[in-house]
Amino acid sequence: MENKIYFDFVKELLRLNKINNYSSKVIGYKKSKILDESFPIYKVDINKKGSKKFCIVAGIHGDEIAGPYSVLKILENPKFFKKEIHYQIFPILNPSGFVLKRRFNDKGRDLNCLNKKTLKSENYKEIQMFHEEVKNKNFEVFLSMHEDLDISKVYSYIFEKDTKKIYRKLFSNERKWKAKRIYGDKSDGKGLIINVHDHSLEDRFFSMGKAKLSVATETPGKLNLERRINMNLKNLEVLNNYLLGSMFSEQ
Ligand SMILES: [Zn+2]
Repeated sequence: MENKIYFDFVKELLRLNKINNYSSKVIGYKKSKILDESFPIYKVDINKKGSKKFCIVAGIHGDEIAGPYSVLKILENPKFFKKEIHYQIFPILNPSGFVLKRRFNDKGRDLNCLNKKTLKSENYKEIQMFHEEVKNKNFEVFLSMHEDLDISKVYSYIFEKDTKKIYRKLFSNERKWKAKRIYGDKSDGKGLIINVHDHSLEDRFFSMGKAKLSVATETPGKLNLERRINMNLKNLEVLNNYLLGSMFSEQ
């Protein structure tokens, strides 16, 4: 019964893809014994001819739902997508966690981890499907939308030593931290954290040189869902404009 929540999401995703002519495909099936289900995992490709590559990932942690619903919101609005930009979107990478309303997948694993171990283990099939899709690709921007369910303030993780202006534009109206460290990690004092290498997707994309900009954003679970989605939509606009701007500056 509870699997329905995922299939309702998929139904809406496919409806939007159809009316707007977006191309989407199933990158693989996540089989779950405990949920007695085989969940299709989707990728949506928009403007395949666009020269700028933008990878958007959501729903790696199952209970962080603002990311997946933010994806549906942009898909509702075809004007968001600029022809110069090729969008490669993974709306929910962790369907079993989404159904179970918990961070980890049905095997109790944290999927935000890309390394030799997770590329071999039976417990991380979702990450292997994702890796298969991106392993030969490079991106101008990699964005992973997360949530911190226990707080009411936003923050982001990056891996560069200097905090570029573009990162500081994310959550621009919401940067309420006044702390040099967040969860023990160094920050710019306002919620931009320069993370240690943790094998997360955003870390791997940056350190392997697969993405020029790589960032994980954390919306606050203590605020209502609509507000969190709106924060993501603003960030997506900022990154969109950044990509368009970088295009013109190269000409
Ligand atoms: Zn997360």
